[in-house]
Order: sequence, then C-alpha cells, then structure tokens
Amino acid sequence: MKVIEHINAAKDAPLVSFEILPPLKGKGINALWAHLDPLMEFKPSFINVTYHRSESMFKRKLDGTFEKVEVRKRPGTVGICAAIMNRYGVDAVAHLICGGFSKQETEDALIDLNFLGIDNVLVLRGDAPKNEAMFEPEPGGHKYAIELMQQVNNMNNGIYIEEDLKNAVKTNFCIGVAGYPEKHFEAPNLQADLNYLKAKVDAGAEYIVTQMFFDNSKYFAFVQNCRAAGINVPIIPGLKPISTKKQLSVIPRTFHVDIPEALSNEVLKCKTDADVEVVGTEWLLQQSKELRAAKVPVLHYYTLGKPHMVANVVKEM
Ligand code: FAD
Repeated sequence: MKVIEHINAAKDAPLVSFEILPPLKGKGINALWAHLDPLMEFKPSFINVTYHRSESMFKRKLDGTFEKVEVRKRPGTVGICAAIMNRYGVDAVAHLICGGFSKQETEDALIDLNFLGIDNVLVLRGDAPKNEAMFEPEPGGHKYAIELMQQVNNMNNGIYIEEDLKNAVKTNFCIGVAGYPEKHFEAPNLQADLNYLKAKVDAGAEYIVTQMFFDNSKYFAFVQNCRAAGINVPIIPGLKPISTKKQLSVIPRTFHVDIPEALSNEVLKCKTDADVEVVGTEWLLQQSKELRAAKVPVLHYYTLGKPHMVANVVKEM
C-alpha cells in the first residue's frame, strides 16, 4: 500500500512510522531485526530505509603509501526494504538519492523495487561526500531531487532511459520528498527553498517528510508557509530523540537545525548520557503529544540506533 493511501485511510488519527539505516557493510541483518522487532508492537504504517552513496577513503598499502578507494559503507537499501516487507508485512519506503549514482544505476534500482512490489520511494538529492565542500552530480546524473523525480515519473509513464523500449511496463511509485522547516542550508532564504519545494510537489510529489526539528513552532510555521504557497500535500514531521551531550553540537552542524535553549539547558545539566536519554525522551514525548493534538498525518521517528527511546515515547502516546 502506498504512503498516501495509508494517510488518506487514517483520516485524522496520526499514524506512526519509523526510519532506519542499512547496516554497515559486513554486518548481518540480525542487528536490524533486534532494532525493529521491539518497535513492531506499535504497528508502524511504513518503514523508511535510507540510501547511501560511496565515499572516497585513503587506505595504507603494504609499502606505506596510500591509495584512494571508493567505499559504499551502507549498501542494501533495496534488499532491506524487501526483507522488511517479507518479515513484518509492513510497507517499506526506499530512499533514493542523486549523489553518487548514474541514471542507469537509479533505473536498475527502480526496476528491482518494482519487481519486489515496493511502490514507495522518498526522492532526495543527497549531500556532498564528507571530504568535499559542495554537492556535485555524477557525470550524467541528477543535480536536484526534482530531476530524479522526473526519472521516476517517466518510469511511472513507461518511459525508460532507452526510449525505444516497446510496451515498457509502467511502474506505480508513490513519491515523497524532503522539506526543511528551518530552511535547507544551501538555500538563500526560506522563500526560495519553499519555491523549489512547491516545484517538487507540482511535479508529482504526493507528500513531504520534514528534516528533524526540536521546536514544534518551527514545524507549524513551515506548514502555514507551505499552505500559503499553495503546497497542499500532507507534511509528515520527522522526529529524533536526543541521547548524548555531544549531539548538542553534532546535530546543528550536521543537519543545520537549532536545538531550543530549554532543551540544551536541561541536557547540559545531565551528568551522564543515561540522564540525557531521560531528558531526550521527555522532550520527544511532549513534542509528539503536541503534534498529535494538532492532527499531523504521521509521527515519523528517526530511530537511528535508539529504538528503545522511541518505543518509550510511542508507548506513552
Ligand atoms: P533538493 O530538493 O534538490 O534541494 C537541494 C537544494 O537545492 C536546496 O537548497 C534547494 O532549495 C535547492 N534547489 C532545489 N531545486 C533547485 C533548482 N531547480 N534550482 C536551484 N536550486 C534548487 N540523504 C542521503 O544521502 N540519504 C538518505 O536516505 C537521506 N534521507 C533523508 C530523509 C529526509 C526526510 C531528509 C529531510 C533528508 C534526507 N537526506 C538523505 C539528506 C538530503 O539528501 C539532504 O538534505 C540534501 O542536502 C538535500 O536533499 P533534497 O532532496 O532536499 O534536495
């Protein structure tokens, strides 16, 4: 079932969904099941699986010199989506990114998803690799998420890269895109960012998932601005628990979002990370309750390594 169908069927009762990362290359899938199994009692409507590009690394050779190698540390998104649907009977949403992938590789991934009966994709641009300052598309790849969306739209219309394919099967992907309540860090201003978001929706995105935020007023203002700009699709809030003191600097630097003073003050008072988990859980619970009362379509939790914290929140809802 498509994400948009879940939302439409639920009417005003907020759904719950989770987001996970594929395991690091070389790790088995059991750690992922240990992560997800305890969350299944909350009956998520769908589970998102992130997509990862390869990174350049320098490896020391036997003679002491270094060689540059490309390593994709977290492959497996498509396979994990299929495994989730098979194990839990829950819909999976595969993330797709432009960065690091050619159009041909993207087409192959979409064909695999289609064969596996996975008809939900979250279409994203991706970021620059860690050691590069600016995002650069692959040669012949996509520069913006909207271009990747166009490729998915084409396949939904039976148009593949080889345009002369006869009677090519039309895929049936439901497409979601990302939105940024606190602005995408590269956008010159909120309005410009919103204009590009509207273009994605006008091009066929059926819903938006937001970047994480820790201050609900930012989400509410974003929804209001979207509606004023004529963006009328569901806007799913992305929620993440704070679990360590270190995150007070890592999260703003990595995700370009603010941590409210009241939250950072409470975290700074904590003696251990176990204390931080208590503060982070309570904060997330209050955020979730307020969002639920505001009748958001879905509460989407970035579980990333902290499923027990998310479980403790959803249990109280
Ligand atoms: P875009 O929509 O392409 O926007 C990128 C920037 O370009 C913005 O500043 C926008 O304002 C601007 N822009 C957009 N269109 C145009 C245009 N036509 N002309 C000029 N400027 C334009 N990353 C991963 O690598 N893997 C994941 O699985 C992943 N999952 C994510 C899930 C969510 C919910 C979110 C919020 C982010 C996720 N990311 C993931 C991170 C994401 O890839 C980055 O935030 C990336 O920098 C932007 O992606 P986007 O799809 O919003 O890009």
